[in-house]
Amino acid sequence: MTDPESRHRACWYGRRTADIPVDVGSACTIEDGMLLYCGHPMWYPVVGYDFDVRSCVDCDYFRPRAKPSSRRPPPG
Ligand code: SF4
Repeated sequence: MTDPESRHRACWYGRRTADIPVDVGSACTIEDGMLLYCGHPMWYPVVGYDFDVRSCVDCDYFRPRAKPSSRRPPPG
């Protein structure tokens, strides 16, 4: 999934609101009349509603992770 809007839609932290602040920054994303933002606790306190959905394309949330069964056994 490489489309940032698709990632935002699929992400648990992907949020949208119809209450668009009048002083929202220029880096925001409005889609279908809704303001898109990230509710992740590491992002939201920093960027708030000044969120550019294109940030989702490189987000670590979608970084592949190793399954526990594929991890190497501990040394020794
Ligand atoms: S930035 Fe990452 S955590 Fe936030 S909505 Fe986009 S994909 Fe989800």
